[in-house]
Amino acid sequence: MPIYEYEHIKEPCSFGQIFEKKQSIHDEPLTQCPKCFNPVRKRISRVGINISKTNAEIRDLGFTKLIKRDDGVYENVTRRQGESRYMEAGKPETLPDFSKTIS
Ligand SMILES: [Zn+2]
Repeated sequence: MPIYEYEHIKEPCSFGQIFEKKQSIHDEPLTQCPKCFNPVRKRISRVGINISKTNAEIRDLGFTKLIKRDDGVYENVTRRQGESRYMEAGKPETLPDFSKTIS
């Protein structure tokens, strides 16, 4: 079952301001805390963001992934044609070409 995050709208209780609740996707979202019965709202879940994608998949989704290799030096592991492999601080010509990505 997926885990949802809820947030106390007012005062937190012993669950904390934000707490997690395992629920079926068919369940109605909670409107009150199961412990203190104060109003809560569902938070936009971070669950479901799968970060274990390959660099090629990330690139196909339109993301650019930079890995720090040294101080001020980043490897663009999702570089597209014409992009520099390494991005260096202070060298704008090495920045990823976002205009190409967005066009
Ligand atoms: Zn509560």
